[in-house]
Amino acid sequence: MDFSQQRLGQLIIVSGPSGTGKTTLARKVCDRGEAVFSVSCTTRAPRPGEVDGKDYFFLTEEDFLARVERCELFEYARVHTRLYGTLKSYVYENLERGIDVIMDIDVQGAAQVRACPDDLVKRCLLDIFVMPPSLEELRARLSGRATEDAAALDLRMQNAAAEMEHWSSYSHVLVSGDRETDARRFDALLEAGRMRTSLMTKPE
Ligand code: 5GP
Repeated sequence: MDFSQQRLGQLIIVSGPSGTGKTTLARKVCDRGEAVFSVSCTTRAPRPGEVDGKDYFFLTEEDFLARVERCELFEYARVHTRLYGTLKSYVYENLERGIDVIMDIDVQGAAQVRACPDDLVKRCLLDIFVMPPSLEELRARLSGRATEDAAALDLRMQNAAAEMEHWSSYSHVLVSGDRETDARRFDALLEAGRMRTSLMTKPE
């Protein structure tokens, strides 16, 4: 019997307001090959430097809704007036192969995943909410990005406040501090999560 390779992947959901560094946290783990990043579909326009197929699959609203019709999406939601959603096949295939998948999604999408009745999802799920240290610090971080006009920034701040009301629906919360501490805490959570009995499959 070989016990070493007998587990499902973790389905790691990371949510939190834009500007908390959650995407960077998730991407670092994936860059080290410890998980794969679930590249979402979106109808928003690419930001400078963003690459189609790597950051997002950039779709028209019509294409997006056609995928919804074909039941290709695991979850989807309208965030900041645009549609965002996760491709189901990519997530399920990796979990079954024992590969951890990170989904960087909003609170509406996370609620849909939590409500998913599939045994695979229930066994693999690990969700964490990343909180900014304060709203003032979040505004400062978002203004520093310079990819937003004032109206877009205000909309993101309003959405941040609304998103933060949902932190207690998550099993874990990380109050963002400096980058190194955040990364260390996030890595520790994933490492511990890999030992959950719910992920173990029966040895052959
Ligand atoms: P941004 O436009 O800044 O890349 O993302 C805006 C928000 O959409 C973020 O909170 C991000 O987590 C969320 N988001 C990105 N992809 C998905 C997705 O596939 N599903 C859902 N529900 N939210 C997503």
